[in-house]
Amino acid sequence: MAGNNAPRILVVGGGPTGTATAIALRRELPDAHVTLVDKATFPRDKTCGDGLGPGARRVLDGLGLSELLREFHMPMSVAISGPGGVEAIARGPLMEGRDLAGYVTPRLALDDLLLGAARDSRAEVREGVSFEGMSPADGGERVTLSDGVATFDLVIGADGAYSGVRRAMGVERPAMRHTHIAMRAYGKVTHPDKPVSDTLRFDFLESLLPVYGWVFPLADDGANLGVGIPVNHLKRQTERHGRTLRDLFDLYVEDLERRGFSVSGLERVAVHQLPHAAARTPMTAPGHAAVLLGDAAATINPLSGEGIFYGMAAGVQLAEHLGALERAGKAWRGGAARRPGRVRAGAPDPVRAALPRVLPGPAAHAVHALGRRRDPCGRRLRRRDGARGAHAVRRAVVGLARPAAAGGEQSAPAAAASGTSRPGRSLSLVKFCQN
Ligand SMILES: Cc1cc2nc3c(=O)[nH]c(=O)nc-3n(C[C@H](O)[C@H](O)[C@H](O)COP(=O)(O)OP(=O)(O)OC[C@H]3O[C@@H](n4cnc5c(N)ncnc54)[C@H](O)[C@@H]3O)c2cc1C
Repeated sequence: MAGNNAPRILVVGGGPTGTATAIALRRELPDAHVTLVDKATFPRDKTCGDGLGPGARRVLDGLGLSELLREFHMPMSVAISGPGGVEAIARGPLMEGRDLAGYVTPRLALDDLLLGAARDSRAEVREGVSFEGMSPADGGERVTLSDGVATFDLVIGADGAYSGVRRAMGVERPAMRHTHIAMRAYGKVTHPDKPVSDTLRFDFLESLLPVYGWVFPLADDGANLGVGIPVNHLKRQTERHGRTLRDLFDLYVEDLERRGFSVSGLERVAVHQLPHAAARTPMTAPGHAAVLLGDAAATINPLSGEGIFYGMAAGVQLAEHLGALERAGKAWRGGAARRPGRVRAGAPDPVRAALPRVLPGPAAHAVHALGRRRDPCGRRLRRRDGARGAHAVRRAVVGLARPAAAGGEQSAPAAAASGTSRPGRSLSLVKFCQN
């Protein structure tokens, strides 16, 4: 039972970011009172591709939650096709000696399991409770929730792409050029020759670049399929060709059918935004004892669209850093964060100092690459900012399609043997998508 002086932490949002953060906080700050609220009652759906990469699996391992993944489907290969129709396939979970196995985990089930795990960790979980606003008070934040008002030492905004905590902190939403939009559906996808149910499929169509269409298989020929596109590209296509996101989704389905796939029983069509890491959204704001994580902080990988891993990893890192501060007897509650003017670059407050380097591994690499002179495939870029970097990714993906003969499928090793493709490049793209 938390004592009177125990830290009081509010986590807003019961998605993967919020639940992983709450569980890690309970582990790292065992005396803390951790409250998690979500406006939804679970099980609730979240529009997603449902792909859980190896990074997310490792985070769940670290939290002692790998058992949760047992019930989900683990496809064993990854297929990537370029706009020219050439396809590279990586088979098996091992690549360059690394275990890159991932899962397809319908969010309706995954998030419910994670919320249960947060409850088991003895976080106080309150469903059907909305965050409505907050203001600095009493060394923390005075928070208005739909079921009352309370004060917390720290508020963690893990409330997703349309974050209300972000708004309350006065942090601007990411620019549309750093935001993708995607439509997903569930359906049945089969092919007479290809093992659909065993393959994560990424199809880079000209009309969607630098994003892609995907088919992520579930058991029994079921699949999560969808398309993504940068919001400003969609706007341009709508203005020029009258195309909606649904039109692009239908074009992708037609494209799959042209390639021999059969798609049927489409249902639960839904749309959601993906604010991605090229936006470099601030995670804290002067004057607020609050931190943004996950989609609320726009940490989605701009190339792969993966966001679950980055949100969970950031939450765990934050908890570990706060735990280390607490164990070292260093204050992290209240303090400089509440006093505008004392927070400046180079003189961070304790919570700010505890923030994770939120873009571990490949995403950091991606964002770096997008912002600098080389793209993820090692080509020189002429331009620098994130949006233009996306143009370079597009060129890289188009390049992926070109070297091989038109048409037929080609595995990466076969391409290496024939010398018609560049498997190293294809595989590094696969690794990217898989982190
Ligand atoms: C179509 C699509 C496909 C994607 N595919 C993948 C994929 O295959 N793999 C992958 O890793 N990522 C994918 N992503 C990204 C991934 O879905 C997100 O990165 C991930 O859901 C972020 O988790 P989160 O916990 O930060 O936010 P969310 O999952 O959005 O959770 C936020 C929670 O906050 C709650 N909330 C919101 N407002 C309030 C409020 N005011 N008060 C209380 N609660 C509130 C919501 O109810 C929700 O439960 C995809 C995204 C889209 C749109």
